[in-house]
Amino acid sequence: MQSKIGKSTLEIVVGDITKQDVDAIVNAANNRLTPGGGVSGAIHRAAGPKLWKECKTLGGCKTGEAKITKGYNLPASYVIHTVGPRYSGSPNDAVKLASCYRSSIQLASRYKLKSIAFPAISTGIYGYPMEEAAKVALSTIVEELKKLDSQMLVRLVLFDKNAAEIHERIFQEILKELE
Ligand code: ADP
Repeated sequence: MQSKIGKSTLEIVVGDITKQDVDAIVNAANNRLTPGGGVSGAIHRAAGPKLWKECKTLGGCKTGEAKITKGYNLPASYVIHTVGPRYSGSPNDAVKLASCYRSSIQLASRYKLKSIAFPAISTGIYGYPMEEAAKVALSTIVEELKKLDSQMLVRLVLFDKNAAEIHERIFQEILKELE
């Protein structure tokens, strides 16, 4: 599904983030920006070893912040690396997770990128419950897109149908509140 938010578009799809033909894909990275497993491992495998070589020069990344590299062998020109919180059950989790989406969109905007694809940050190895994470992700993306002067396509790429359905339901609820 997709919907207009201001001048921009937010869409939710089922798919593989490494295959997205957008200006930037977002990596759910760790603090040292090492390839690791999950979506990060898949992005590094698809991008090739030069991605890790560039990541090594960046001095890591703090939780909730974002850094940008080239995309190398990926269809996307850039990778935005952001570090989600490990779920602990504290209110700070949502603050940090929102900061990941906000920092990534603001970085994309500074680079004048027109399209960006996100995975569901923190919902794998970092244990964030999918529904709670979806509320934070979608409300933060909507808030940022409303503030943008330029046009941007934000695509949330969920790895399975169940995750996509949860995001679609919560997106509908947020859209209803906006009406
Ligand atoms: P984190 O450490 O931030 O939890 P993970 O990589 O473990 O990151 O998982 C984040 C989410 O990305 C999970 O919901 C997982 O199912 C999903 N995921 C894993 N591989 C891919 C992929 N190739 N494309 C899109 N999403 C993916």
